[in-house]
Amino acid sequence: MKIAVIGTGYVGLVTGTCLAETGNDVLCIDIDENKVKKMQQGEVPIYEPHLDVLFERNIKANRLKFSTRLEEGLAHGDIIFLALPTPEDEDGSADLQYILGVADNIGKSIKDYKVIVDKSTVPVGTSDKVKAAIAKHATVDFDVVSNPEFLREGFAVDDFLKPERIVIGARSERAIALMEKLYKPYVRSGNPIIIMDEKSAELTKYASNAFLAAKITFMNEIANFCEKVGADVDKVRIGMGTDSRIGKRFLFPGIGYGGSCFPKDVKALYKSGIDNNYDFKILDAVLEVNKKQKVVLIPKIENYFKGDLKGKNIAVWGLAFKPETDDIREAPALDVIESLLNLGCNITAFDPEAMENVQRKLGDKITYADGMYDALENADALVICTEWSIFRTPNFERMKAKMKGHVIFDGRNLYDVPDVENENITYISIGR
Ligand code: NAD
Repeated sequence: MKIAVIGTGYVGLVTGTCLAETGNDVLCIDIDENKVKKMQQGEVPIYEPHLDVLFERNIKANRLKFSTRLEEGLAHGDIIFLALPTPEDEDGSADLQYILGVADNIGKSIKDYKVIVDKSTVPVGTSDKVKAAIAKHATVDFDVVSNPEFLREGFAVDDFLKPERIVIGARSERAIALMEKLYKPYVRSGNPIIIMDEKSAELTKYASNAFLAAKITFMNEIANFCEKVGADVDKVRIGMGTDSRIGKRFLFPGIGYGGSCFPKDVKALYKSGIDNNYDFKILDAVLEVNKKQKVVLIPKIENYFKGDLKGKNIAVWGLAFKPETDDIREAPALDVIESLLNLGCNITAFDPEAMENVQRKLGDKITYADGMYDALENADALVICTEWSIFRTPNFERMKAKMKGHVIFDGRNLYDVPDVENENITYISIGR
């Protein structure tokens, strides 16, 4: 099938590449000329495991191409995916300027029947707005489909190729048939393609993300409470998670959720509530708790150093909002670093993939180490912000030899408490 994908970020590039992988002819469009130039030269502009192999293979096979020109995408694709940003607007709502701007341009250039598929996360009712924006100029038939994306950064390729479910929000039989044909190769194991109306599809995405954010936040509150009453959140987590109604996943406490989705999606759903005269009390609490949780280590650090943090050298392991990505949007590490800088600390950080992005944001406010042990040179303390696998079994002797102070503040509970304490390192984590 002939496909165009508009927007080649984490979602668009994975979508385009994985659609090419099953034999479709894909043209990816992005407004960012530098990015498009890089991709045309065979360079993957983001870090996403396994994407490089598929990217290279499909470019070689001539099934994956790139351009900056929307009209070219429209001429090429029978199905046009919108994988555009929907960032947080000033009032917390999702900013639809990218989606509606492109929809307007599609309306001006569309010459024959197309299915316009919205993959971006958008508030309920957006597909009607997209339809209206296109219809303002279009003189031909078209359909708009809501097809929210559930991939996880770090597992995006696998999630796209083997999705647990595909949600299609559409009422046009013609569009539904095309979408089912397109996705058939990805659900051969029997996972469902769930067809529903556009509004329900749009809400499914927000409800899923808000639920997951609430699940993490609930566990973070349990962890904080464990500290008050002397319980161990690891034990509580395992005790709870074995109940199949609860499940083992997403029960790990830490320094809050971040990333490009949960924070903005919870806010956008909360704002949608207000706009529709509904007070989402749970979401309000999730937002408030998560904001505090991101800096929950700071009072612990201040306490340890008796309030005197001026000039202290703090090593930070992990900058990305989660492992296996270079994405630092709303990363808790940034909140931790900002607080520590305000308290007068010197920061030396290491992350396997996200350093370039942080350097672009923070410049020389902090020092960037070449390796995880290099970051510890002369450090008064180590703060762990992201649970990258390489941090999981460190050489504690080597760490101690580098560090001036032997204390770890672990925002991701990477180690068993006795294992670190037996190394004569003070170990302060979450909920234990
Ligand atoms: P992103 O910021 O990584 O990528 C967006 C891309 O769109 C950028 O490359 C940008 O240059 C391009 N762009 C902006 N305006 C454009 C225009 N007018 N024409 C062409 N290209 C344009 O965003 P993302 O993380 O891929 O997210 C895209 C959408 O998918 C958002 O709504 C997000 O909420 C949703 N989503 C993201 C994830 C995720 O894990 N990142 C998962 C599911 C859903």
